[in-house]
Amino acid sequence: MEITVLGSGTILSMPGRKPASFLIAQKDQLAILDLGPGILHQLAVLNIDYLKPDTIFLTHFHLDHCSDVFPFLMSRYLLDNASNGRLKIYGPVGLNYWYSMNASLQGKWLSECQPEIVEIKDQQIYWIDYQVKTFPTEHTKESIAYRFEGERSVFFSGDTGFNEKLIQFAEGVDLGILECSHPDEKPVAGHLTPKEVGRFAREAKFKSLAVCHVYPENDRPNLTEIIAKEYKGSINILNDLIDI
Ligand SMILES: [Zn+2]
Ligand SMILES: [Zn+2]
Repeated sequence: MEITVLGSGTILSMPGRKPASFLIAQKDQLAILDLGPGILHQLAVLNIDYLKPDTIFLTHFHLDHCSDVFPFLMSRYLLDNASNGRLKIYGPVGLNYWYSMNASLQGKWLSECQPEIVEIKDQQIYWIDYQVKTFPTEHTKESIAYRFEGERSVFFSGDTGFNEKLIQFAEGVDLGILECSHPDEKPVAGHLTPKEVGRFAREAKFKSLAVCHVYPENDRPNLTEIIAKEYKGSINILNDLIDI
């Protein structure tokens, strides 16, 4: 599985940091995990054919994680009006409501050919040869994290506060991708600080750590140093448009 960072930041978009989003490639197929504002443009920058991704995974419904889903659907419709019928969107409970509310305002172009909408409850989910598991996070009531298990194991935290059960769910992955929103001096409930990120990665025994969803106030040169006090493995503070 190859992962490209489409966005490493938050709703407070900065040069080099669009909202957190990832392009996942496996065996010539593409999926996108979260699709916030500006991510459609990132696909264009990378010269990715909008018709190519077959799956979207959403962590929750805050705008920085999903507001480009409908622009993405419209772009696909304009390129090939049947293409959305080949797309699957996974997300937490509430996905059906979120999708139908937005879709009801779009009219004919979307009603003719819609993606398959799959709310994740207890069902087994596979994407190509990966098993995809989810777990609730400490953020909004519907927020979930994802763990992909296959030749490589990867954990995507989505947005979350510190949570021991989530740490157990993420244990032992090859790559843990954690949000790191706010500085330790100014913590915000429902998000992680650098110290918590380090502790999370250590307790979960990540083989390597990547850090995203960094707010401008937390985007400091010593971020790695702070995390490294808690976690001794490799630490990658992500930037947009890099491969991990
Ligand atoms: Zn959020
Ligand atoms: Zn967010």
